[in-house]
Amino acid sequence: MNNNENIVVFKVTSEFFEENGYIVHLEGKSKAIIFDPGSDVDQFLEYLSVKNLRVDAICLTHAHPDHIAGVSGIKAAYPDAKIAIGLNEAAALTNPKLNLSSLLGFEMVSPPADITLKDGEDAEFAGIVFNIQEIPGHSPGHIAYIAKDSKFHVFGGDILFEDSIGRCDFPGGDFKKLVSGIKQKLLCLPPDSKVYPGHGSTTTIGEEAKNNPFLN
Ligand SMILES: [Zn+2]
Repeated sequence: MNNNENIVVFKVTSEFFEENGYIVHLEGKSKAIIFDPGSDVDQFLEYLSVKNLRVDAICLTHAHPDHIAGVSGIKAAYPDAKIAIGLNEAAALTNPKLNLSSLLGFEMVSPPADITLKDGEDAEFAGIVFNIQEIPGHSPGHIAYIAKDSKFHVFGGDILFEDSIGRCDFPGGDFKKLVSGIKQKLLCLPPDSKVYPGHGSTTTIGEEAKNNPFLN
């Protein structure tokens, strides 16, 4: 994987399910990516405006409602922003049954995907190259976006949390697939690799390899 320049990450936690979204950009550059924009769109817009950033892409790890709640709002403010998601998750963006919002008692949809990403491919957004790894189990087509500057950065949505992993009891969930995907595709990264999860605190691959009860 290419080495990028310094990657800056700003975390936005939205009230709806305390979901973490992230604004990511290269230091000193004007293009940004938003990962998994949650319900609190104003927090994203405020940071973008203060830092004078424009949104190149809205990158989604999966299509559950807490992770897509802010897509329409960000897209309204930055109509040129491309929406990216995994190939096997794209249909759920526009389908309340597949994205489980109807199961939770409301119907949420996002604008459709502009870009669908395949397992193993490299993709560039806002000048940052990401390697895409599909790790199903929390949802059927969930992906992680992995970038590297002086270390690796994993935008993993609801795959791997501090001391926990994503829920697998929803329709489309699969505990075995999730654990084996994490072991095969993430635990091979260096211990100092940072993990930015969809809920809870930022952690590292080394911490989780050592302490995560689901992986030990
Ligand atoms: Zn989820």
